[in-house]
Amino acid sequence: MENPDFVIVGSSGGGGTISWLLAKAGFKVVVLEQGADWAKPLEDDPLKYNPQPHDEYRFRLERPELKRRPRGDYTTRRASDQETAAPFGAAWTGSMLGGGSVIWGTWSFRALPIDFRLATHFKVNGQLDQLKQEGYDIPDWPIGYKDMEPFYNVAETLLAVSGDRNAVNQGISSSAWYKAFKSQDHFAHAGNWKPDFAFPCPPYPLTPVGHLASEGFKTVGWSSVPLPSGMVAPGSSSYKTQEAIEEAQEHWVGDKPAFWKQSASKIWSERVRDACNMCGFCGEYLCWGKNGPKSGSRASTLKELADLPNAEIITDARVFEVMYDPRNRRATGVRYLDTTDPDKPVTRLQKARYVIVSCGAVQSARLLLMSGPPGGLGNRHGKVGKYLMFHLFGLGATAVFPADFQGLLHGEFGHTGNTMTFDPYFINDKPSDETHGKWWKGGTMVSTAKKNPLENATLKLQGGLIRLDLLQAMEIYNRSMEVRLTGDDLPMARNYVDLDPKFVDEYGFPVARITRDFGENERRMFVNGRPLLEKVFEPYKAVGATVTSSDGSLKLIGDHQMGTCRMGDDPTQSVVHPFCRMHEVPNVFVVDTSFMPTGFGLNPMVTVVANALRVGTWIVDQLKKGSEL
Ligand SMILES: Cc1cc2nc3c(=O)[nH]c(=O)nc-3n(C[C@H](O)[C@H](O)[C@H](O)COP(=O)(O)OP(=O)(O)OC[C@H]3O[C@@H](n4cnc5c(N)ncnc54)[C@H](O)[C@@H]3O)c2cc1C
Ligand code: SF4
Repeated sequence: MENPDFVIVGSSGGGGTISWLLAKAGFKVVVLEQGADWAKPLEDDPLKYNPQPHDEYRFRLERPELKRRPRGDYTTRRASDQETAAPFGAAWTGSMLGGGSVIWGTWSFRALPIDFRLATHFKVNGQLDQLKQEGYDIPDWPIGYKDMEPFYNVAETLLAVSGDRNAVNQGISSSAWYKAFKSQDHFAHAGNWKPDFAFPCPPYPLTPVGHLASEGFKTVGWSSVPLPSGMVAPGSSSYKTQEAIEEAQEHWVGDKPAFWKQSASKIWSERVRDACNMCGFCGEYLCWGKNGPKSGSRASTLKELADLPNAEIITDARVFEVMYDPRNRRATGVRYLDTTDPDKPVTRLQKARYVIVSCGAVQSARLLLMSGPPGGLGNRHGKVGKYLMFHLFGLGATAVFPADFQGLLHGEFGHTGNTMTFDPYFINDKPSDETHGKWWKGGTMVSTAKKNPLENATLKLQGGLIRLDLLQAMEIYNRSMEVRLTGDDLPMARNYVDLDPKFVDEYGFPVARITRDFGENERRMFVNGRPLLEKVFEPYKAVGATVTSSDGSLKLIGDHQMGTCRMGDDPTQSVVHPFCRMHEVPNVFVVDTSFMPTGFGLNPMVTVVANALRVGTWIVDQLKKGSEL
C-alpha cells in the first residue's frame, strides 16, 4: 500500500488488536509480521495443515519452528553485566501471524486494581525503602484500573473469555491479603474490586485435575476459582463477537468514546466462532478447531482486518529499522527484509505517517535500539530496554498418584489449566503469625494437567522422548498433575535488553542480549511460597501420592516478557507516555507488553489487548478531532 496512515510491526495481542481498530475507524493500515501464516493450508499438501483432523502430534512435528523464533535468530543471555552473554534459545513468544496469541495457553486475567498502585502500596506498608535498597524500581502506573476497565470488558469479548465473574470476585475478596489491606484507603480506592461485567462465555467445565486441585486448595483454606480462559467454552452454541461487544458497550464505565458509540454491527461482522472440543493442547498449539474456538488475534481481529479494503497484512516481513528524520524528530516508516525466500532476502521500504511497534518486549527494544540516532530511537535517557521482566514459572508442585490409581488426570479432559486461586497473590513472610508478618508480592496459582507425552515422541525436540522413556512417561502422565505459581517479577534497572556487541543473526543484525537475575523478592517468594504449594497436595499423600516441588531457580525466563519501554509521565524516567506514544518521537507508539511499568502476578494477554484498544481509541479520537500527533 502506498502512503498508509499506519504501519504496524507485529501482529499479536498488541499489534493485531490496534491494527484492526485503526482500520475499522477508516485509516489506511499495513501490518508487517516477520513470521508466516501457519493457519493457511499448504497448496502442495492440503492434508498437512488441514483444519479438520485436529492432528496435534503432526502439528508438533511439522510446525515450522520448534522454538518459536524465526530461522537464524536467537538471543544471548547473562545474569549480570559482569558476565559475558552466551547464545540462548528462549525468550520468544511466537513468530507467526498472530504471534504469542496463537500459541498462548489462554489463561485470561485482568490485572487487579492494586497492581496499578504498587509503589504507593509498598510505601503505605513501610516496604518501599527496603525494596529500593534491594535494587527494585517500582513505579505506580500513570493510569489506573478505571482507565482500563471499559477496555478490559471489550478485550474479554474479543477473546471470548469463559469464566465466572462472581467466583473471581469472591476468590479475591476472601483471601487473607485482601482482608489485611481492605481498610487501607489507597487499596480500597485503587479501582473497582468487584466488576459486574459477566464473562461472555460460561466457565470451562471442571476437569478431574481441576477438581483435585480445588479440593487441595480448600484444605489450605483457600478459595478455588474456575480459570478464566480465552476460548469459546465447550458445549456453547456458536459465539457471536458482535453480540458480546454490544454487552460491553452497554456496560461502558465512564465517558464512551465516539468509536464505541457506533452500533456493534458497524464495529464487528456477523462472523461466528465454534466451541472448544477439549483436546487439551492449547498451550503451544495452534488450535485447528473450525472457526477458531481458541482466541487470539489470528482468530478474531486479524480475520476482521483481512476483510477491510483499507488494510493489508504482509507476512515474512522482518523489520530491522524504524526510519527516522532528525530534522523534525519524526519517523517516516520502516525498512524490512522480505524473507518469503529466506535464502534470498530482499530489502523493502514501507513508508507511513505513524509507526506502531509491537514486536514483544525483547524484540521491540532490539528494533528501537537498531533504529534512529546512535544509541537508539527514543533513548536519550537510556531507558529503552530497561526494567525487563519475565514472570516466574519455576515454582510448582507435582503429585504422582500410585500405579493402582483409578482415574484419569490427563490433559485431554481440558486445556492447559482449569482451577486457580488468588490466595497467594501476596505471600506473608510469617505464615504462622500473619498479623506480624509482611505481605510480599506472589502470584496466581493454577492447576495444570500433564499433556500427552506422545506429542514429544521425537528427538527433534529438546527433551523429546522415545523408547522406554516414552513408555514410562505414557504410564504416569494420566495419574499425575501439578499446580504452578505465575509469580510476579518486580522491575529492576539491572535487568535489561540491549544489542549484543558480538553475536549477530543470520542476516548480520545484532541479536538481543538479555541481562537478568533474581532479586530478593523472588527469593522470598520461593522460600515462603514453596511450602504453600506442597500443602495443596498434602491430603493426597495419605493415598500414596508422591509430592515433589521445584523452587524455580533454573527458570529465569518464562513465556511472558514485559517492561523495556516503560510507560510514564516523566520523559527522563520512561520511554512512552500514558497513551504509549514515544516521548521523544511523537509519531511512534509501542503497544506490546513493553509498555508495562510492573508485571502483575498473572498472565498479561488481556491487559495487552485492552491497552491496545485504549491506545487505539485515543489515537482515533485525536486524529478525528484534527490534532496532528
Ligand atoms: C507458550 C506460551 C503460552 C502463553 N500463555 C499465556 C496465557 O495463558 N495467558 C496470557 O495472558 N499470556 C500467555 N502468554 C503470553 C502472551 O502470549 C504474550 O504476553 C502476548 O502474546 C504478548 O503480545 P504482544 O503483542 O506483546 O506480542 P508477542 O506475542 O510477543 O508478538 C510479537 C509479534 O511481533 C512479531 N515480530 C517480532 N519482531 C518483529 C520484527 N522485527 N518484524 C516483524 N515482526 C516482528 C513476532 O513474530 C510476533 O508475531 C503465553 C506465551 C507463550 C509463548
Ligand atoms: S483445548 Fe479447545 S481451544 Fe484449546 S486447542 Fe483444544 S480445541 Fe482448541
